Amino acid sequence: MEQSQTVRIMCPNLSCRSILAVPVSARGKLVRCKACGTNISVPAKAAPMPASPERNDSEGGDQSKVA
Ligand SMILES: [Zn+2]
Repeated sequence: MEQSQTVRIMCPNLSCRSILAVPVSARGKLVRCKACGTNISVPAKAAPMPASPERNDSEGGDQSKVA
């Protein structure tokens, strides 16, 4: 178990778009992009992650057809 979890946020600066890893303790605060210096507000909630492909919902679209 890692105690020091980080939140990954993307720099809103369209000409930067760096991915910043900030500690979860920085949620709800402002962090500064190391690359461009833009102040970024860290969302208090977990960032919406893309759905895990491991999810086995009723829809199985990952079936490889063997012809
Ligand atoms: Zn930046």
